[in-house]
Amino acid sequence: MTDSTHSSRDWPRDGAGEFLVGGQPLSRVVDAVGSTPCYLYDRERLRARAWALRSAFPTGVLLHYAMKANPMPALVCHMAGLVDGLDVASAGELRVALDTGTSPEHISFAGPGKSDAELRQAAAAGILVNVESFREIGELARASERNGRAARVAVRVNLPFELKASGMKMSGGARQFGVDAECVPDLLREIAAAGLAFEGFHMFAGSQNLRHAAIVEAQTKCYEQALEWSDLLPAPVRSLNLGGGFGIPYTPGEAPLDLAPVCDNLGRLSERMSGDFPGGHIVIELGRYLVGEAGLYVSRVIDRKISRGQVFLVVDGGMHHHLAASGNFGQVIRRNYPVAVNGRSDAGTETASVVGPLCTPLDLLADRMELDAAQPGDLVVVFQSGAYGRSASPRNFLSHPEAAEALV
Ligand SMILES: *Cc1c(COP(=O)(O)O)cnc(C)c1O
Repeated sequence: MTDSTHSSRDWPRDGAGEFLVGGQPLSRVVDAVGSTPCYLYDRERLRARAWALRSAFPTGVLLHYAMKANPMPALVCHMAGLVDGLDVASAGELRVALDTGTSPEHISFAGPGKSDAELRQAAAAGILVNVESFREIGELARASERNGRAARVAVRVNLPFELKASGMKMSGGARQFGVDAECVPDLLREIAAAGLAFEGFHMFAGSQNLRHAAIVEAQTKCYEQALEWSDLLPAPVRSLNLGGGFGIPYTPGEAPLDLAPVCDNLGRLSERMSGDFPGGHIVIELGRYLVGEAGLYVSRVIDRKISRGQVFLVVDGGMHHHLAASGNFGQVIRRNYPVAVNGRSDAGTETASVVGPLCTPLDLLADRMELDAAQPGDLVVVFQSGAYGRSASPRNFLSHPEAAEALV
């Protein structure tokens, strides 16, 4: 099994050309799940990816799973056994995280709009809150008083620079995420005055980055930024969270991220850490890179139409389940995800577009791709769908049924 699958060609098939998920032919797995459309996640791939990362990471660097990439409870449970901690983005995700049995010690909460109720819940549960505004401090101070225990906080920083070559920038300039770096000294004073338990910093520059040099530069700059505040700390830094953002390839032109230089740099930073912040750890908090390549979105062909010479495969799934594959999840230019027809066709290949059942031309899963000739009843697979798939899609569009989900 290859660990990095950036095209359907790399995904294993059986003798009949069926894709293998959890070691079984796709049509059988779909029959067992009971319906299309569905998302399928391959346990073994998830495990292999997490282990590969852990063995590449220098000792002392902790690996967390950012649940918002895929919050399916069974998958989060599986991941919880493979990583050092979980990051949640809402109280709903916090419930799922706590249900896995992960110690609150190893759960953190980031998000630009935490409600008062969510902050109270987080403080009561004893997880680490990545504080993103002055308002959050007041609520956490009140919760600490009620709980008789200081809420644990880290400061999420809006960095003074942007991450180069990032698919989605999360820092630099004016942002809703975190607190501007220039306001951090004031925030640290307020945290101390409110008696909260300061544990460190959280800095996340941007998502979907395939360029190791840009990631190395950003992580080093983040480290140096944290160093500037060494004299202002209310308590020693226990956790320096450098965010997620490792990318995965979606198009044939994209090469997988070269992890080695990133890990070398983390090793150097981790060593500096023992001098600059004794007892502190670097935390890397990944979503997409951990789970994206282990997931498939599977739909069934309802109809095959030819319009003025162009072939359209109309399938029972679409953008309401998989907004990102349709190209409507913040992408500037629409590019096809890797898509393939399950099984071998005697009719060879043809150029076809895969469209969903919604009444909008945006409901497009593949635009004029070379695919095995397909007929109604065939299964169409969208690869690289384990992250920001179902969880990042407008699921009730046109009142169509939910995508089923299975961890295989
Ligand atoms: C989304 C998010 C992540 C994960 O990002 P990926 O690009 O999927 O690795 C990590 N940390 C925070 C705070 C996030 O919001």
